[in-house]
Amino acid sequence: MTDTTGGLGSVLSPVAGGGIPETLLEEAAYEAHRLAATTLPDDVKRAFVGMRDREQEELPKRVLEAIVDNFHAAEDDQRPVCADVGVPRIYAVIGNETAIAGGFVSFERAVRRATGRITSDLALRSNRCHPITRRNPGNNVGVFAPNIEYRVEPDADYIEICAVHKGGAFGTDFRMLVDGDGLPGIRKAVLDAIAEFGRRGLTCPPVVIGVGLGGTKDQSFSIAKQAAQLRPIGDRHPDPDVAALEDELLEMANSLGIGAMGYVGTAGYATDVHVEIAYTHSALTPMGVHQLCQATRRGVVRVHMDGRTETRPTPSWFSDYSRRMGVE
Ligand code: SF4
Repeated sequence: MTDTTGGLGSVLSPVAGGGIPETLLEEAAYEAHRLAATTLPDDVKRAFVGMRDREQEELPKRVLEAIVDNFHAAEDDQRPVCADVGVPRIYAVIGNETAIAGGFVSFERAVRRATGRITSDLALRSNRCHPITRRNPGNNVGVFAPNIEYRVEPDADYIEICAVHKGGAFGTDFRMLVDGDGLPGIRKAVLDAIAEFGRRGLTCPPVVIGVGLGGTKDQSFSIAKQAAQLRPIGDRHPDPDVAALEDELLEMANSLGIGAMGYVGTAGYATDVHVEIAYTHSALTPMGVHQLCQATRRGVVRVHMDGRTETRPTPSWFSDYSRRMGVE
């Protein structure tokens, strides 16, 4: 991986035995936010260009041309890909060998400070407000905001910060499937979510559909969101049964005649479908569905214990370890 962050590690003090310093983590979180806000990942750009070239209908083709023009302009001008910043959030992969100077409180302080700074510097819309009074501090920072999810990776000495600015108030759904529902029940739940929101353009398609199957109720919803946000387009689950379901659901989503922004189209509705599973109750299968809009925004920066930083094309949130089986 190359260091494309402008050499954060070179302008800040290298780590000197005490763990990764807060200043370096703040700059890395800031850079992850900047990338998320302004620069679509390459896999997403390729998918949109391909859809634009394939689309036969005039209206969705115009939409796709605008989407492609817009992501070029956003990157060139360093301005937000969409005026709606969604709700900025962080996923952090922590190496088991990683030390942070000041500990995790220091990391969380760095993330909150970076979030406030990027909101001001890029004039991001401040969406985060009090849910009752609507009081808005103006910096996308508040109670439980930005939310940070963690996972641990063995034999690693870095901290990987992935900023996601997910918009799309619509397109999520939850079902509690019973055993008899089987695969037809899963298909129907995805189809219902598309019919309810996608055909009206409410999800700002083309979307990435994330499906979470199993686990607990809340877990199914979380892994569905992670599946939509944290896997690159074209990625397939290592379990062949799950991968086959991903292919099937993608084909279904793209055979409905719904195109970009819900117009009748030929190039498809979804850039991909990602399914994550968790072992679940023997009689019930909770199922979450998320649809990630055309502003498919994520930025990933990894900070190593020796002070090096690197931007990465995709997060390593899902790994053999995070999907492990059995008793260790
Ligand atoms: S759903 Fe996505 S593309 Fe549509 S307005 Fe919100 S952030 Fe922008």
